[in-house]
Amino acid sequence: MNLEKCNTIFQKISINECSFGKGVFASQNINKGEAILRFTGKVISLDEALAKGEKQANVLQIDTTKYIDIEEPGVTVNHSCNPNAGIFKTTVLVALISIYKGEEIFYDYSTTMSENLWTMECKCLSINCRKVIKDFHYLPPNVKKRYLDLGTVQDFIVGEHKQRTQILIAKIYPSLKIGLGVSNNYCDWELAKNCE
Ligand SMILES: [Zn+2]
Repeated sequence: MNLEKCNTIFQKISINECSFGKGVFASQNINKGEAILRFTGKVISLDEALAKGEKQANVLQIDTTKYIDIEEPGVTVNHSCNPNAGIFKTTVLVALISIYKGEEIFYDYSTTMSENLWTMECKCLSINCRKVIKDFHYLPPNVKKRYLDLGTVQDFIVGEHKQRTQILIAKIYPSLKIGLGVSNNYCDWELAKNCE
């Protein structure tokens, strides 16, 4: 699958009414790994995203201070704490499992969030519902790992996560003198002693 060549809208979805208002549904069976849609819209700043108030749920964070003001159909994709799709390559929604005709399509909003400004109550009713949707860094460790392993976390958040892990390791094992304050280069465990 070449995600770079995905067109704006794919043919296997429809927008229908659902318990959250509107949602994106599979109009045909969608295979695991198949691209579903690309999130499109004007790129806006953090200030412009904040100015949207309640409608901040309608933006997609793509960098520390950059957002896409999402248009349909992407803007109607709802959140789930147990999603059947995830975002890859910043803007492409891909099926994480097989999705059958008639099923609603969800991704986990936390995989794109890191700004410490916005939270949303969650009513997804999943068995593992977190009740409040927060930034990626607040996810339970096992959930974080799963999304990182799948590759469905925005690149800038993956970078932040690596840096935070590095800081944490340095705090727990200060004698190793890993990373920050010593060098900006990432030092792995074996090389740590040579990083001074
Ligand atoms: Zn939930």
